[in-house]
Amino acid sequence: MTDRLVDSFGRVHNYVRISVTDLCNLGCQYCRPGSSLGCKVKSELLSFDQLAALVEVLAHMGVTKVRLTGGEPLLRPRLEALIGRLSRIKGISQIGLTTNGMLLGPRASLLRQAGLTDVNISIDSLVPERYAGITGGGDFNRVIKSIESSCKAGFDKVKLNVVLMHGVNDDEIEAFLKLTVNYPLFIRFIEYMPIGDRIQDWRSEYMPAESILMRCEEKGWQIEPAGGSGSTGSTGGLKDELQEEHEISGPARYYRIAGAAGEFGLISPVSRHFCGSCNRLRITANGCVKPCLYWNEEWDLKPYIGDEEGLRRILLQSLASKPLRHEMTIVPKDIASQPYTLRQMSQIGG
Ligand code: SAM
Repeated sequence: MTDRLVDSFGRVHNYVRISVTDLCNLGCQYCRPGSSLGCKVKSELLSFDQLAALVEVLAHMGVTKVRLTGGEPLLRPRLEALIGRLSRIKGISQIGLTTNGMLLGPRASLLRQAGLTDVNISIDSLVPERYAGITGGGDFNRVIKSIESSCKAGFDKVKLNVVLMHGVNDDEIEAFLKLTVNYPLFIRFIEYMPIGDRIQDWRSEYMPAESILMRCEEKGWQIEPAGGSGSTGSTGGLKDELQEEHEISGPARYYRIAGAAGEFGLISPVSRHFCGSCNRLRITANGCVKPCLYWNEEWDLKPYIGDEEGLRRILLQSLASKPLRHEMTIVPKDIASQPYTLRQMSQIGG
């Protein structure tokens, strides 16, 4: 039996995203509106010992990059201690964090010292009242302070995530883009995905990430491919193109407005899926592996932690069942052949 995390389509998996808690201190309208989720008892969560044991096995199988997410990962007490442990695992070269930034500012330097290499901060509006509305009470000034502290803390990269929503924040696209002109920021526009409580009515707010490029054109802004890939043109087949982009900069296609200090990225899971180059596994807060964000299948790893051979077997089994692609689509259609995930995004980690 091979030890490498390769699925039946030959995709090599070297990236794991771990939800360290499904609790959140915000209630973003697209993520967990009105839900009262959360592992009910602490023992349902994977402990730091279990997480370290799991990542050690994953590293033996070729994982080099870990992202900690949630829920809100900074709600997990002593996260710095977990990061320190993971950063000492042989083979792990990158540890990222995806956070809403509410608790990040005062901890940014400590997290960096512990071994965190990069941070993604979610910020869906630049208007404080609107930001509070979208996030269910988020404090805009705090997230701005967190961005500033993270820039000073010396992370390899600080990226900002914006979920694009028609009629909610699309009138701020230009303001976000102008930030990249003046500051060396990476701003990523993410398409609204049909996951969670809003799967019935998400389409009314969905908009394709390509519309950002149209806005640039309307403004007469010159844009160029960025992010070190230079591969956003169509020199080869689509799969090759996506593969190359994915290897270099993840699923985002990066661009720069001519002369800008920063870059912007488009993440288009719905309109232009990047499943062909998917290299990631997701671990839910209660220890299940999800080989695909969208499909419902998952395997409980908890019984196997501490049994390296058993863990390897179940991880490979989950990968063998990984589908070629998800079926998130703006066109309503019957996807009953493969039920979509019943998990909320806060349980999966995005
Ligand atoms: N609490 C952290 C945060 O806010 O970044 C981490 C967890 S959150 C689930 C991770 C990412 O998923 C965030 O950037 C969030 O905006 C994104 N997200 C959540 N639900 C989404 C949806 N339905 N469509 C697109 N992105 C979504």
